[in-house]
Amino acid sequence: MSLARLRTLPSEAPEAPASATGAEIFALAEAIFPICRSITGEGVRETLRILGRHLPLERREVPTTTRIFDWEVPKEWAIREAFIEDMNGDRILDFRSCNLAVMNYSIPVDRVVHLEELKEHIHTLPDQPDLTPYRTSYYAPRWGFCMPHRELAALAPGMYHVRIDSELKDGSLTYGEYVHRGETDREFLLTTHICHPSLANDNCSGLALLALLARDLSHRRTRYTYRFLFVPGTIGALAWLAANEDRVGSIDHGLVISCVGDGGGPSYKRSRRHDAFIDRAMAHVLKTAHGEKARLLDFSPYGYDERQFCSPGFNLPVGLFQRSTFGTFPEYHTSADNLDFIRPEYLADSYRLLMGAIDIVERDWTPLNLFPKGEPQLGRRGLYDALGGMKAASEKAMAMLWVLNLADGNNSLLAIAERAGLPFNKVAITADLLREHGLLAEA
Ligand code: ZN
Repeated sequence: MSLARLRTLPSEAPEAPASATGAEIFALAEAIFPICRSITGEGVRETLRILGRHLPLERREVPTTTRIFDWEVPKEWAIREAFIEDMNGDRILDFRSCNLAVMNYSIPVDRVVHLEELKEHIHTLPDQPDLTPYRTSYYAPRWGFCMPHRELAALAPGMYHVRIDSELKDGSLTYGEYVHRGETDREFLLTTHICHPSLANDNCSGLALLALLARDLSHRRTRYTYRFLFVPGTIGALAWLAANEDRVGSIDHGLVISCVGDGGGPSYKRSRRHDAFIDRAMAHVLKTAHGEKARLLDFSPYGYDERQFCSPGFNLPVGLFQRSTFGTFPEYHTSADNLDFIRPEYLADSYRLLMGAIDIVERDWTPLNLFPKGEPQLGRRGLYDALGGMKAASEKAMAMLWVLNLADGNNSLLAIAERAGLPFNKVAITADLLREHGLLAEA
């Protein structure tokens, strides 16, 4: 079936299902916030269980030591408790009150050590002395704690009892996948990382938003097939790619989503291809909704899982959508990236922007003007009369003139919207009207 057959806008159909609200996305982010996630382990499974209440997520398990390109699935990490106590038995630090307090993937330890030795295993942020940093050591066997610098500086010299009751064992790497079948097998990939512990923007926001967007899309008739991935950063994306190498040729569009709940941006980092359709669609949606505030960034090989999807062996049309970009906001990878940092209105805006890009992908087609010699007479066909007030009338007339002029079979609706400086939605509605009046056909 032709990709250009379905042109109705699902979101405007009278029977269209409700869209997730900002409050609903926030509530789901809040529900998964307390979980101690990592690149493997029960935290990922528990998160998938909660997300799975909203959509039929498939859980995949990839055994420890499985080779994945140049990588190998690491041992599965489990953490039961972690603390530092002084010699009076008073707790200086407790994993139960903040899961950032233990370095993610710490090996077990149960020792009494001097403060000087302890300091070698404690990570702080001297420039943000009241915040706890987020640190990991996935591939080097180390133990460590994270705490506010001010609290470390206040520790009295002497001996401390450190205990991390963790385990690194043969198990598996877990990720979640959901596929919404469209009218064709051509795919739109949407993926987000599930490996960070209690960090709200990075990335409870992306997990919650993508789960509810998938739920809402599952009720729609679409021409594309939509694949949603909830994967541990890097190793999870690579695990999916390794298991689906024969499938990646079906991916026409893709987005990595993270940090979508704060007040910055919005921003979009282009795919390695630079001018993929998704790059243009996202640029159009962000510029139309946010004007100069929208940030459009060129591809660079540092960031989230677009690094893997855009590696030269795959070079997929996959960009990165964020609000504030990673590493640029002071709350990034600290305990200040908490639920106060994300807001329902920003989550709702991110949702609308993503649905806007999906609408473009679903509705784009290439029109051909059937009366290309001179302008067709619009008044005779009632196309001027059908319009409302004067200002709106002239806007609609301009949209018709642009579409008719550029409908030479070489420009799709998105290209017409870009060149005319008109919102895609307006161009699409206008093209439908002109087609109904016999002035356009599909090229
Ligand atoms: Zn991160």
